[in-house]
Amino acid sequence: MTRRFSSHELSFLRNKIPIAHVIEDLLSLPTRNNTGKLSFACPLCKGFDTSINYKHNLARCFECRQNFNPIELVMHQRHTSFVDSVKWLKRHDCKPESKDTSIRDTQGSPPVNIGDILPKILPSLVDQKNTNPSLEAIIERILNLELQVQKLYLLIEKQSSAYQR
Ligand SMILES: [Zn+2]
Repeated sequence: MTRRFSSHELSFLRNKIPIAHVIEDLLSLPTRNNTGKLSFACPLCKGFDTSINYKHNLARCFECRQNFNPIELVMHQRHTSFVDSVKWLKRHDCKPESKDTSIRDTQGSPPVNIGDILPKILPSLVDQKNTNPSLEAIIERILNLELQVQKLYLLIEKQSSAYQR
């Protein structure tokens, strides 16, 4: 038998996909939450004498006296072979896995660090922090302000003359 899956992949599927996620979301097994502890319909006997071992990421049926890891749960519930169950889990697990993100990446651009954006949005702020304002710079700012005031003045005049009409 050829090995289709790396041991890393298999241990990822067994240990890193939360067993409750497999039960509730991926397989949509009927669940009960009576005493604050989640139990699920055993894929073998359909009974609810079950529990979830979060620490070891296993589901257990006390009736069948059997533990199920995520792959085994899929095998029993979907009546699929080991290989098909692993493939199915890989397809349905929506956590981004390093190797398998090519499709998902096209759906949105990756988040960007705010520190990378800010200097582009506020270049003047960043520049001013680094340099002491020289006299020339201050004069330039005053001139700029004067220009702005002049523009505002013209705008107000235009507005008021419009009202007067
Ligand atoms: Zn059972």
